[in-house]
Amino acid sequence: MRVLVVEDEKKTASFVRKALQAEGFAVDVLHAGDGVLTALQTTPFDVLVLDIMLPGRDGLSALRQLRENKNVTPVLLLSARGGVNERVEGLNAGADDYLPKPFELAELIARVRALGRRGGENKSTVLRVADLTLDTLTRLAKRGGAEIELTAREYRLLEFLMRSTGRLCGRMTILEKVWDYDFDPGTNLVDVYIRRVREKIDAKFEPKLLHTIRGAGYILEEQR
Ligand code: CA
Repeated sequence: MRVLVVEDEKKTASFVRKALQAEGFAVDVLHAGDGVLTALQTTPFDVLVLDIMLPGRDGLSALRQLRENKNVTPVLLLSARGGVNERVEGLNAGADDYLPKPFELAELIARVRALGRRGGENKSTVLRVADLTLDTLTRLAKRGGAEIELTAREYRLLEFLMRSTGRLCGRMTILEKVWDYDFDPGTNLVDVYIRRVREKIDAKFEPKLLHTIRGAGYILEEQR
């Protein structure tokens, strides 16, 4: 398994490198955030261990760019701060796991190994509800075999709803997960986008999959 470690504190980087190498991982190290995207474009890594506070491009910004480029390498974020908000921010930016500093090397290794395993299993990532499918690698949505065109935001909304199949998704949760808002902007943003997505995935098809729970939110599921 090949791991890229991005950490500007040379001592920490060296500890982590040695510990991972001792466990049989191939390890590359970068000391700044700027080279991360290039490194991942040229070499396939199984896991990226990414510090948040870095000189140049910070870890969160690199991570967001990575996910925008549809790179799905599993990412373990490291952070000296470790507050709840930062953790949520990291996960929203597309991190798969989060480890606050200081950490035990044994824990880091266990998490890297778990992410590497998960990455191997997730190569095909097609979400499915009835005859509606969403490929999270190609971002292609289909219903009954017909391709559905989605804007970037519609895609995020549909992906979130499909990952939450059968569960009630409240407006506030949707704002957090799809728009990264942690406040209610007091608009009907969610309803507008729900209407658009519904028009695309349900209008011409049966059975209807996207259901409104009055006053509470939405559920995407095949109801029987
Ligand atoms: Ca740092």
